[in-house]
Amino acid sequence: MDIHEYQAKEVLSNFGVAIPQGALAYSPEQAAYRAREMGGERWVVKAQVHAGGRGKAGGVKVCESDVEIQECTEEMFGKKLVTHQTGPEGKGIYRVYVEAAVPIDREIYLGFVLDRSSQRIMIVASGEGGMEIEDISATRPETIVRATVEPAVGLQEFQCREIAFKLGIEAGLVQHLVRTLQGCYRAFTELDATMVEINPLVITGDNRILALDAKMTFDDNALFRHPQISELRDKSQEDPREARAADRGLSYVGLDGNIGCIVNGAGLAMATMDTIKLAGGEPANFLDIGGGATPERVAKAFRLVMSDKNVQAVLVNIFAGINRCDWVAEGVVQALREVQVDVPVIVRLAGTNVSEGQKILAQSGLPLIRATTLNEAAERAVGAWQSDLNQSTKVRAS
Ligand code: ADP
Ligand code: MG
Repeated sequence: MDIHEYQAKEVLSNFGVAIPQGALAYSPEQAAYRAREMGGERWVVKAQVHAGGRGKAGGVKVCESDVEIQECTEEMFGKKLVTHQTGPEGKGIYRVYVEAAVPIDREIYLGFVLDRSSQRIMIVASGEGGMEIEDISATRPETIVRATVEPAVGLQEFQCREIAFKLGIEAGLVQHLVRTLQGCYRAFTELDATMVEINPLVITGDNRILALDAKMTFDDNALFRHPQISELRDKSQEDPREARAADRGLSYVGLDGNIGCIVNGAGLAMATMDTIKLAGGEPANFLDIGGGATPERVAKAFRLVMSDKNVQAVLVNIFAGINRCDWVAEGVVQALREVQVDVPVIVRLAGTNVSEGQKILAQSGLPLIRATTLNEAAERAVGAWQSDLNQSTKVRAS
């Protein structure tokens, strides 16, 4: 789960990371009021969307009066901000953060990520802050400083000092950088984050180190341990299909194709998507309904898949190990009686009680297309989608 910049700043400041003074606003009037309340002469108004690259896209504006703040936020509210990280559809702006403008001397990139090859948290830093890390690694790779943290002992002070020296931080500020690094590390581990990024971390004209931007991503599977973090979720920033799935406890990723997939098990779901592609089609989603595959879950899955208007055929691929095909078949039949599905449905069942399952599907009277192997299922799904089947092969459940 991603959170907004202002939320990440609040989280990190609780761990000792210094941030500029700032306040959140839900309307242009409130933004102007916040600036007056805060005082000062220059402010930066920042669109709160779950994406970086806002500065270049017009989502970060320097303002010198409350009138100017009101005018420039009127331009932002309700609009979609399109940055190189949002995709062409952009992300809606419903909140802005008004922050005191800071005199910047130097910008530094700082990131904490999970390095899968060393199975450690890795710190990535560069003196070339303000640029995206991908651009830094393409144009100035020699400026990147890396350090991995040994989990048994945690992030050590000497490692932080070493990073400070490699970044050329002046002696008087080294301790401040150490505190910032250790604060980020503690926030990362204690809150089960998967990414913390401060870009830029700045050294100000008056010699302070401040996080001017902040991004945090959390491990969805650990959110139950951190209710104060799960509360920060903002569904307006998520793919609505994925938000609905998460609410229903289904593991779903929306894609751009036309063949909806309902599968039990993540590995089988991946294999199903691959096979659809091999057969010349494009999957509309990844969906793992989990081991249980109860009739209720199958019905939820159909509702979710059918809520995507691009779906022109649905492929159900269930392997019953501990589960039973007859039970799953009943689930499919029940789901199709409850959910309006007006596209061809292809069902492939394998495993325990497969013949009983097939019998239930055959006797249901529903015009399902049945398949035995995964290849056959994918080919029939692609065929059904391509040949614009006539009404008789479409399932209409009331
Ligand atoms: P994004 O990464 O989405 O473009 P940032 O928060 O990094 O957004 O802001 C973009 C740039 O705007 C920063 O690199 C920095 O130069 C400038 N900026 C952001 N916040 C402030 C601030 N409070 N004071 C001065 N400059 C700022
Ligand atoms: Mg940034």
